[in-house]
Amino acid sequence: MTSTAFLSLPLAPEFLKNIESLDYQKMTPIQAHSLPVILKGRDILAQAKTGSGKTAAFAIGLLHKLNIRIYRTQSLVLCPTRELADQVSKELRRLARAIPNTKILTLCGGTAFGPQLGSLEHHPHVVVGTPGRILKHLEKASLKLNSLKMLVLDEADRMLDMGFHEDIMRIIDKMPKRRQTLLFSATYPDEIQEISQAIQIDPVDIRVEALHDDKKIKQVFYRIEKGARTKTLVTLLEHYRPESSLVFCNRKQQCQELSNALWEQGFHALALHGDLEQKERDQVLVQFSNKSSSLLIATDVAARGLDIKNVNAVINFELSPDPEIHIHRIGRTGRADNKGLAISLFMESENYKLDAISAFQDSPVTIKTGESLKARENFKLSPPMVTLAISGGRKDKLRAGDILGALTSSTNLPGKQIGKIDIFDNLAYVAVQRPIAKQAFKILSEGNIKARKFKVKKLR
Ligand code: AMP
Repeated sequence: MTSTAFLSLPLAPEFLKNIESLDYQKMTPIQAHSLPVILKGRDILAQAKTGSGKTAAFAIGLLHKLNIRIYRTQSLVLCPTRELADQVSKELRRLARAIPNTKILTLCGGTAFGPQLGSLEHHPHVVVGTPGRILKHLEKASLKLNSLKMLVLDEADRMLDMGFHEDIMRIIDKMPKRRQTLLFSATYPDEIQEISQAIQIDPVDIRVEALHDDKKIKQVFYRIEKGARTKTLVTLLEHYRPESSLVFCNRKQQCQELSNALWEQGFHALALHGDLEQKERDQVLVQFSNKSSSLLIATDVAARGLDIKNVNAVINFELSPDPEIHIHRIGRTGRADNKGLAISLFMESENYKLDAISAFQDSPVTIKTGESLKARENFKLSPPMVTLAISGGRKDKLRAGDILGALTSSTNLPGKQIGKIDIFDNLAYVAVQRPIAKQAFKILSEGNIKARKFKVKKLR
């Protein structure tokens, strides 16, 4: 039987201690199956989705292999989107706390090129990024991969869908043939097999159970009449009152329209889709994950790869025509030991989609009508937190502790009323409990942070 204890792995004691401090008590199935093989130096072709713990699986393998005394890029992680690259870097940094001086650099498109050149001069040990931008650096020779020992392709199927095949192959041309290659993909189309054959050597095939545990996710389908989608959604929110919900639409225009309609009805809803600028996307994700927005309205493309913890409900405003995508969507709730709620709206004419889902998940679906729902008069679903945006970030050497310090030292604000702090290159965001938002805003905008003045804005 495969051991699930991290202690069974041949890792340095301080590394194991750090994993324990992250409260990772045992390995997830993908970790238990892949880590022993990765640590032996083999290539792997693994089927793993977001939420499976795949990032830690390759991150532990990658960090274990680094020689920190050599200031060269030894590992490269390619991701389809900047959001995923940011999340991978975060997880790598958390795990790398056990190895002092590990330099991890994120290189993605959609951000200025110049500052990345400066960061590359410090010779990062690990580079995480999107294929287009990585290739650009390779072509300008600002990034060199001749000492590369490990390549990771994360969400490879998604990268191929996005047309990165050629870029990936050109990047691989610029690295040594003798290396370890880890390929992670949620699905296994033929192109994945082909790319694996082209770039891997005798990979170990690892697949873990993809379907969710039904007992953790309560799934209900609501039959609606034409034109009743938004109204039914509001009634559903009033009935179930989920603190946070991820609402899926099939088209980006629908995301924006729905979020506008929900604002008008007093809900705090933010849309996430491909037309947003990078800064807007960052803000939307920050606000949703720090609980200052109750509803994230997204397309599948925008939501792919996001690591959003504790979503109480996933709501399919419109059913996906693809049952596999449906299963992937609802897997965003009921993570870890939490119970999840998955609600889908459908019209009579979409019965065939229900049949496909039922066949795919190999169990019947529960159908209800809106009449069974209890609407509540004057009910408001108000998010518990408010986000304050600060005009300084990593480049200003601002750290979470500085912001926390500015809010709590010499004031009577208790630290527990302050939530998540997110630091970006030029901006920082702090979540504070709604009742103290005004006071916190005043402290930060009138006072100093790290003996400096910053502009502060309350995000709506
Ligand atoms: P991923 O599938 O890589 O997106 O990871 C999903 C989440 O699970 C991340 O927030 C990780 O920090 C967390 N995680 C990864 N490995 C473990 C583990 N062994 N135990 C508990 N949580 C984990």
